[in-house]
Amino acid sequence: MMFTRFQTRTLRVGGLLIGGGAPVSVQTMATADPHDAAALSAQVVRCAEAGAALVRLTVPDVEAARVLGEVRGKSPVPLVADIHFDFRCALAAIEAGADALRLNPGNIGGRERIQAVAHAAKARGVPIRVGVNGGSLEKGETLVSSALKHVKLLEDEGFRDIAVSVKASDVRRTVAAYRELAERTDCPLHLGVTEAGTFLPGTVRSSVALGILLEEGIGDTIRVSLTDEPEREVRVGLEILRSLELAPPGASVTSCPTCGRTRVDVKGVAAEVEEALERRIAEVARSGRRLSLPRIAVMGCAVNGPGEAKGADIALCGGNGEFLLYVHGRPVRKVPVAEAAAAVLSCL
Ligand code: SF4
Repeated sequence: MMFTRFQTRTLRVGGLLIGGGAPVSVQTMATADPHDAAALSAQVVRCAEAGAALVRLTVPDVEAARVLGEVRGKSPVPLVADIHFDFRCALAAIEAGADALRLNPGNIGGRERIQAVAHAAKARGVPIRVGVNGGSLEKGETLVSSALKHVKLLEDEGFRDIAVSVKASDVRRTVAAYRELAERTDCPLHLGVTEAGTFLPGTVRSSVALGILLEEGIGDTIRVSLTDEPEREVRVGLEILRSLELAPPGASVTSCPTCGRTRVDVKGVAAEVEEALERRIAEVARSGRRLSLPRIAVMGCAVNGPGEAKGADIALCGGNGEFLLYVHGRPVRKVPVAEAAAAVLSCL
């Protein structure tokens, strides 16, 4: 049984709506040097192409806030400034054009500093995410009590554009915390398991925790934290949403497992086709259009290749060092392995 989604306030982050029934969106965090605008811009674009709706950049000092502003000018998606301890970085990030902040007001000093940040954020329409992690709680606090304490500090200043996250590194604690939080606040919730690990364990832990919560109607944005490239986090996050029909279907490439007959790089070409198709889907989605998704097959040889090609819109069937390209079940031409993915895309 699908639960009804918890009703939360609506936030506007740049052009993105969060909460209030808006589609659940995928976030990630850039890992490039916060002072290297070119590297950050390139990484943000790769994340957007992978399907990220929002990218967070760390802002450890005022110079990094200036760099964030430079990156924002070229970014296809809104950017969140991640601030710890120094309220001057928050003010500089708002001034530079950050679309949102991630900041815990209890960690930036006294009331005057909180007021300064809350007033600047309100004046610019910049929402703030309060983000509490299991590893940084004060004595006697729980994830939820800590998060609500920070929320209250902002609300006491008349600031209400707040999202909240309460991330632990284990699944059960994370799920329990978000369930409690969903009952106690109408702030949009950003879901994640913190320090989830490398690709395989991190993907499994995040999928289990986020899957339970999303199916219960909890969660407005998600991040899959992996010790890996941020683009890979985004792809896992999107697949979690797709598996629960919370995002439109993505690229689906049928490919054979390969065997001793294989004389072409099926694994590499299938992955290349899938990635290129995902980029195309994200581009089309950002432009507001819809791409009708083709059925694509990448097969190793003529044993099963022509059969799969008949059921696919576009297919590659491996031969000796080259592929035969099929369109709507008919063989069209031979293509070298290095050009195979491009040949598929040219048929879309
Ligand atoms: Fe092997 Fe050909 Fe089957 Fe692929 S399609 S698994 S290469 S027999």
